[in-house]
Amino acid sequence: MTFLAPLLFVATILIAIVAPVKAAAPDSKSQITILYDAFGTDPSMTKDWGFSALVEVAGKRILFDTGNDADIFAANVKAKGVDLKTLDSVVLSHRHSDHMSGLNYVLSVNPTVKIYAPKEGFGIYGSSLPSSFYRKDETLPPEMRYYGGAPPQIMKFGAAWGAANFELIDKTTEIAPGMTLIALVSDSPGTKELKELSLAVDTSEGLVLLVGCSHPGIEKIVEAAAAINPKIQLIAGGFHLVVAADDVIAKAVATLKETYKVESIAPGHCTGEPTFAALKRAFGDRYLYAGLGTTLSLGPNTGREMRRGEAPTLQQDDLTTYRRLARREDPFGVLQARSLRAKGSQL
Ligand SMILES: [Zn+2]
Ligand SMILES: [Zn+2]
Repeated sequence: MTFLAPLLFVATILIAIVAPVKAAAPDSKSQITILYDAFGTDPSMTKDWGFSALVEVAGKRILFDTGNDADIFAANVKAKGVDLKTLDSVVLSHRHSDHMSGLNYVLSVNPTVKIYAPKEGFGIYGSSLPSSFYRKDETLPPEMRYYGGAPPQIMKFGAAWGAANFELIDKTTEIAPGMTLIALVSDSPGTKELKELSLAVDTSEGLVLLVGCSHPGIEKIVEAAAAINPKIQLIAGGFHLVVAADDVIAKAVATLKETYKVESIAPGHCTGEPTFAALKRAFGDRYLYAGLGTTLSLGPNTGREMRRGEAPTLQQDDLTTYRRLARREDPFGVLQARSLRAKGSQL
């Protein structure tokens, strides 16, 4: 058997050469933990409509969205033992309250943390415009003119959280090496002109994409992500197909699976029950359960823990919660959009 020794030596060297190099320290985590959602199996956490996830990758800890209710968010954060004081940054995907309402709690713990949010004209995260934007009439007396006729060069518009450390994102921006905020705008009735940020993390295994509500369209977001790295390892978050018709769902699922060859999928939030079912059918064991409290390991073993056995199925109380919320609320203007579409089709 000794003739095998040189072969084994060469094989060991080759494996060492081709193994991907990890940028982060060996003990740093590479995972996504779901801190806010309306389905899940962790009895220590409270289910509610909304989304938040902690992304820990390449030595960075980024809180993506903050849920729908500050008290529930705080309780869920504590239940998972998450330390918000050591966050590198917060991303607010868009201005809907089911993604932002926990921000007050974040700021009570960590008032200076950098917060990335979409830049929108007169938005609640604050904005500014050159005063040249408005028409002047120099024939008016000063008391009838804005700022007495001598406006500041830049007009600033306040944020709902005046002291918070916002960095407003206008276009797709790399915020740290390999970490990009994709900025897109919704064109859908009910959320027209809403800007949304999605987080793309380029890892040695491919791109990990985290989406909040996907108001600009999950297919558009994935198209933008594929421009960064066409190998997409994982998409997690809300796909906003919660009221979509079967043919729309089928098209989105086919785009993810066939066009972009997404490796694994971990849908949550506003993805919708029929879309959960369609994605599960299409992706099989590459569908990673991502309910409230779930931690998804990233890297070469993404989802391996889940794939060993059957992913937990939606339990009856999850389904009941979903349906109750769906009846009670219109969190994204989807019902309004529906009625607009219905009105439009009557014309
Ligand atoms: Zn939304
Ligand atoms: Zn949402």
